[in-house]
Amino acid sequence: MSTGLYLFSNDLRIADNELLQRLCQHCKQLIFIYTPLNELVDASYNAYPKQDVSKSVCSFRGQTLKCLADELSRQGHNLYFADSIEDLVRIIREHKVSDIAIANQFGWNESLALRKLTQQVRGINFWHKSNHTLFAKEQLPFQIDDTPDTFSRFRKLVESSVAVHPTMGSPLHFPTSVQCKLPLCTDIYNDLQPMGAWFSQTATTALTSYFSSTAPSRYKQTRNALSGDKFSTGFSPWLANGSLSARQVYSALLAYEQRCGANESTYWIYFELLWREYFQWLALKQGRSLFVFKGMSHTAPKTSFYPERYQAWCHGNTEFELVNALMHQLNTSGWMSNRGRQIVASCFVNELELDWRYGAAYFEHHLIDYDVASNYGNWQYIAGVGADPRGGRHFNLAKQTELFDPDGRFIKRYGGVAVQAQERDHNGWPRH
Ligand SMILES: Cc1cc2nc3c(=O)[nH]c(=O)nc-3n(C[C@H](O)[C@H](O)[C@H](O)COP(=O)(O)OP(=O)(O)OC[C@H]3O[C@@H](n4cnc5c(N)ncnc54)[C@H](O)[C@@H]3O)c2cc1C
Repeated sequence: MSTGLYLFSNDLRIADNELLQRLCQHCKQLIFIYTPLNELVDASYNAYPKQDVSKSVCSFRGQTLKCLADELSRQGHNLYFADSIEDLVRIIREHKVSDIAIANQFGWNESLALRKLTQQVRGINFWHKSNHTLFAKEQLPFQIDDTPDTFSRFRKLVESSVAVHPTMGSPLHFPTSVQCKLPLCTDIYNDLQPMGAWFSQTATTALTSYFSSTAPSRYKQTRNALSGDKFSTGFSPWLANGSLSARQVYSALLAYEQRCGANESTYWIYFELLWREYFQWLALKQGRSLFVFKGMSHTAPKTSFYPERYQAWCHGNTEFELVNALMHQLNTSGWMSNRGRQIVASCFVNELELDWRYGAAYFEHHLIDYDVASNYGNWQYIAGVGADPRGGRHFNLAKQTELFDPDGRFIKRYGGVAVQAQERDHNGWPRH
């Protein structure tokens, strides 16, 4: 009797999951395990001290896993938790697992963890698929090594030749479940702090709620705001953990366009999904160099690491009240708008002259929508070592405040107070 193991990682869903469909059709019995793959190996790519993820990240993860566990339990299955390769190997051996399905991983650490696992359990069929992208690898009009160095080149290539495949439903039949000696996900993530109103929804509710409003028709005009109701789609946390697939968003967008009409704004939602797509394939191409100081460029930025400035940025204690308010928003909610991220990242690199990788690593542990490709790709871009033909972005903080928080409401809401820099610099020399 064939026993399958479905390893959930960044694809926490049952619907629109071809890999799961195929495994369900193939196996007589099945085990479901969630494992935080990027936490299974040591983050050897940077000097940043290993940190636990924030409370918001844990809560959002727990909330999503509970939804998935509920769905599986309606099919008579448990969702187990494993946080080490050893536990996975033990279960695979104990239950004589013959087939393992796991989504392709584009992050370096994630792929290392996967490689480690495959090396320890030989003779097993591994089923892989890119389960979090709009396009399948085979659809791309270029080899991964030839992924274009700029977004506009990528967009032109895919827009002229690739179509998004339609979504699929949930598997019609689930094989018999297998009891395992592992903790249940719901027991691991049970101490959850409440999420903000939008992020306390399920992926499906958020998708329906956004597309039953008129917000998509105004997206291009509102997307740069710092906060507000439906100023952007707010889908990123579910897209990042895969409880929502990019194709599900695309399909809901098409349905909206048919119902309410297409315009520049609705196209722009697709345009942003293409940015996400681009960063995914670019990360796969870059591999380990996604985390290298020089990034894709040939010159190292003129930045370094200054503990004092870094701490000030993390805790929202810089000289810049807007940056402080934004960092407080991140620290309390686990989320920040795209414009906010651009502002704080630009300040990190340009005003504070800090090594971009430390900012990216901070985001990694604090964003509920952390995604290795989008996060490190965007940080590289702002730092001028990524896919930016203009060589980096420097946002004028006074101008950004005037444009995006003219009445100071955002700054006030998140307690952004300017804190004067220390009298001495990082080497102990007087500053003035
Ligand atoms: C320094 C920095 C770090 C970032 N880190 C992450 C991250 O870890 N995870 C993440 O999902 N996004 C990241 N982004 C991209 C972007 O800020 C978020 O995707 C966006 O703010 C999420 O809000 P939304 O879902 O309302 O986006 P919307 O504006 O509604 O866009 C729709 C979707 O398109 C995608 N998207 C939009 N903008 C981008 C972009 N610039 N790059 C990649 N995808 C994009 C997202 O999946 C998003 O959900 C980062 C941006 C910057 C500048």
